[in-house]
Amino acid sequence: MQIIRVTDEFEALKPAAQLIRQGGLVAFPTETVYGLGANALQGDAVANIFKAKGRPSDNPLIVHISDLNQLEEIVSHVSEQAKLLMERFWPGPLTLIMPKNENIPDEVTAGLSTVGVRFPKHPAAQALISMAGVPIAAPSANTSGKPSPTTAQHVIDDLFGKIDAIIDGGNAEVGLESTIVDVSGEIPVLLRPGGITYEQLCETLGEVALGQSVTEQLSSNITAIAPGMKYPHYSPNAQVVVVKGENEAIIRYINQQIKNQHSLGKKVGAMVYNQVLPAILHADVLLSLGDIHHRSSAAANLFSYLRTFDEQGAEIVYAQDCGESGIGLAISNRLNKAAGYEIVEVNS
Ligand code: AMP
Ligand code: MG
Repeated sequence: MQIIRVTDEFEALKPAAQLIRQGGLVAFPTETVYGLGANALQGDAVANIFKAKGRPSDNPLIVHISDLNQLEEIVSHVSEQAKLLMERFWPGPLTLIMPKNENIPDEVTAGLSTVGVRFPKHPAAQALISMAGVPIAAPSANTSGKPSPTTAQHVIDDLFGKIDAIIDGGNAEVGLESTIVDVSGEIPVLLRPGGITYEQLCETLGEVALGQSVTEQLSSNITAIAPGMKYPHYSPNAQVVVVKGENEAIIRYINQQIKNQHSLGKKVGAMVYNQVLPAILHADVLLSLGDIHHRSSAAANLFSYLRTFDEQGAEIVYAQDCGESGIGLAISNRLNKAAGYEIVEVNS
């Protein structure tokens, strides 16, 4: 397995592009998270992605392009809404679901009649796709169920020896997977929130419906603890509890829980915003999500922090909620899943 560091000229990416063309698996940086790529036109190569990740085969992948001219061989129709979104947000962290072209093997789409397409902004991702000369199908480059990788080291930790190459391009900028919008029907539907916000989509398109997984999250968000609803998603080994409410109440609650958990002999982690952080006492692992009014650093660090808590042996982690406006919808979506929807609302 090769580890290739990105240089300015992208010359170093040639062998990786060659591997893709030959049916190999290459992990590569994007602005969202690291992807695990294969030639999207080669079903057996794509099938190996599922093996390497331990990913259920009914979970479709996203096809990555580096040029709008590639769309023709991937989709059979581009709607007006799709065009508007492409103009405004491509290249960028937005995946569009469109009717698929018959060239696209079933392994990519899990047999669906639609395909997800994204034009990433990351220069190394663009260079790799261009050099390979084929669209690249890729999910996130993690072991299925683990937090998505935002550094090459995360990919090494999960997939070393199981894939052909890893391109190291430093930290992923956005840190959360792409926003997914289904533009194959009459009304566009937000299937997964991400770096392009729901508000931005509505500004561009007017009406955008919320997909089932997003509305479920919003309704189950209202109150406390839904035990047993453990989602096999973004899951660290530690138990994660999301705490929402006013700062004062959050501080009191988390400090009390730290005491309680310590008396049970447990190692406790906390990740909170700067407005709360100095008042959290005695956590064994305490990580800052940054300023609550500028949550891009929370987005960028979330997955990495979930892995850090495991490395440091935290058994239970208290995480401050950040609301659902703007990028908050995407952060809450991942965090609530990581917590298996164990959400505590605290009040003064
Ligand atoms: P990942 O990048 O690992 O999160 O995986 C790609 C995501 O895109 C998954 O959540 C898929 O469910 C979603 N996806 C890909 N293709 C489609 C499609 N045709 N329809 C709906 N969702 C899709
Ligand atoms: Mg994933």
